[in-house]
Amino acid sequence: MRYYLIFFIIYEVIIGFYFYGLHVDKVDIYHQNTLTLVQNSYFTSLETYELANDNFHAQYADKLAELVKQSNGASIEKRDEIRENLLESFINFYNNKKLESLEGFHIFDKEGYSLLRFHQISKHDDPIYKFRYSLQKMKEEFLYQKGLEIGAYKESFRFQYPLFYEGDFVGSYEYSIGFDALIKQMKKFYGNKYMLVLKAKYIEDVVKPDVITKRYSKISIAKQPFYYIKSLKHDSMDERRLEYIVKLQEFGRALREDAEKVLDYQYKGESYAVVIKPVYDIEGKHVSYLLADITNTPISHFREELITEIFLASLLSLFVYIFTIRQIRQKSYARGLINIQREMLIVTDGVKIKDANDALLKFFGYKSFKDFTSRHDCVCDYFIEEEGYLSREVQGYNWAVYMQKNPDKKHKVKMFDSAQNSVKIFGLSIEKFKDNGYSFIIFRDITDELKEQETLSERANYDELTHIYNRGSFNFFLKKEIERSSRYKEVFSLIMFDIDHFKNINDNYGHDVGDLVLKELSSLVSVHVRDVDVFARWGGEEFMIISHTDLLQTEAFAEKLRKIIHEYIFSGVNKVTCSFGVAQFHENDTLESLTKKCDDMLYIAKNSGRNCVISKK
Ligand code: GH3
Ligand code: MG
Ligand code: MG
Repeated sequence: MRYYLIFFIIYEVIIGFYFYGLHVDKVDIYHQNTLTLVQNSYFTSLETYELANDNFHAQYADKLAELVKQSNGASIEKRDEIRENLLESFINFYNNKKLESLEGFHIFDKEGYSLLRFHQISKHDDPIYKFRYSLQKMKEEFLYQKGLEIGAYKESFRFQYPLFYEGDFVGSYEYSIGFDALIKQMKKFYGNKYMLVLKAKYIEDVVKPDVITKRYSKISIAKQPFYYIKSLKHDSMDERRLEYIVKLQEFGRALREDAEKVLDYQYKGESYAVVIKPVYDIEGKHVSYLLADITNTPISHFREELITEIFLASLLSLFVYIFTIRQIRQKSYARGLINIQREMLIVTDGVKIKDANDALLKFFGYKSFKDFTSRHDCVCDYFIEEEGYLSREVQGYNWAVYMQKNPDKKHKVKMFDSAQNSVKIFGLSIEKFKDNGYSFIIFRDITDELKEQETLSERANYDELTHIYNRGSFNFFLKKEIERSSRYKEVFSLIMFDIDHFKNINDNYGHDVGDLVLKELSSLVSVHVRDVDVFARWGGEEFMIISHTDLLQTEAFAEKLRKIIHEYIFSGVNKVTCSFGVAQFHENDTLESLTKKCDDMLYIAKNSGRNCVISKK
């Protein structure tokens, strides 16, 4: 039983792990999808800007290059003239672009000096390459670049294009958009709220202090200092929730991991997640994180599903467990019950033995039921075939099926008891199970009972004193004989004889001697009576013989008996004689009429001087 419990517990644990595994997979997939969503919103938003820029570049790069080329090494006046020219050509473009959140449109000469800032026309000719990594790189590699760059005035996402004239690098220009514009675009596309948090160090190192106070707010996330863009406050997540999550240890840990991550959390009973996406600057330095606020995540729903699944699976296995335990208990209970039975017992489906109790196994000398069934399918292997007893097959049925069909009949079998080296007789009774077609068959040892019955029936049939048939038996046999003879026209006769003056024997020698005479006489006559004939004590000292011969032969037989008795020396009394009446059975004779005829003949014999035979002619 304990093993079943251990098995059950292991099973429960496996189920738990299995469903938990499924749950983890589901959560993983959800996280992946959420991450992809945020990635997509980020890249698509960037893409929209980039596409527009590429279009512009395809259309105006040559014109720009031609003008910028002239500025290289030109006088101040010439550069002013070129600036005028550029402004005239592109101010409309710039103004249009501003509506689409373009913030900076900046043209540089070959050396990385500012030629024209559309967003701040008055400021120019400063050696801006000195502060800008992207310009230094441009001067060396002449390659298109894009990325986040923290400048003195703000963080911007910049797209920087090189300009070539007749194959030579002549300068470059860039568009820049504040990250706030990018985030607004992302929100437009995907609806979520986003927030950019910049590591405090990078802001404080580069951005002018007055700009910092104007543009950024400081925030501490898991004890690390960050800045976020003030203007985006309403676009970022709920303030209370923000306050809540920035204190979360997991958040701090996730930030330190420097990888894209979805962090699930619960707030006021609802499931939320924050997507953390590291954002690198144009130099590849990890300067900030893009945070996406995801509301109404299905995580708590997943968790409920997990609990329901485990609960249902456990419930099911608990039922199976309880059912199994009950079955086992019932089985062992049933085993206990059948083993309490002193009588031998089997359970059978009619053909095969299904179970047997210890008493039966012991009788046949087997240690276990398994032992028994490895040799035998059926107890009937042991049945001794004999008339009146069940054998393997009865009336074409297997013995047990025959019993099932005749449950109320008395069934007996004979089997050899090897322990006692004797044949035993068993009375069989059958009890059918209601639901599965099985039956109990009980083997009750009735050997001794039968013996007792035999002696009892002997007492009933025989005379106690003389041990020959009594009057009851005689009547029974005579009736049979009359029936048989009437049917088959067979001949038989009856002898009735009576001891002469028996009263005198009693009177003279005592009753015991009288008894002894009766016994000796019975033994004496018995010796001469044939097996087929019946010799019985009819009354006190009156006897009957059924003789299967005709009147003449019977008369002769009676005469022979008379002589034998007459010549016999009886203990204590010496001589005893008997008188005989003989009659033959005739058609229509009844028991009464036949015995009456004999009695009449005997009466005549008595009156004729006794010690003689008178027969009915
Ligand atoms: P009869 O020749 O006319 O037959 O004379 P009887 O004396 O034999 O006559 P009766 O039939 O009148 O007597 C039979 C006696 O047998 C009477 C009875 O006491 C005696 N008797 C009957 N049964 C037994 C018995 O079982 N044992 C003994 N000892 N005597 C018995
Ligand atoms: Mg007599
Ligand atoms: Mg008599």
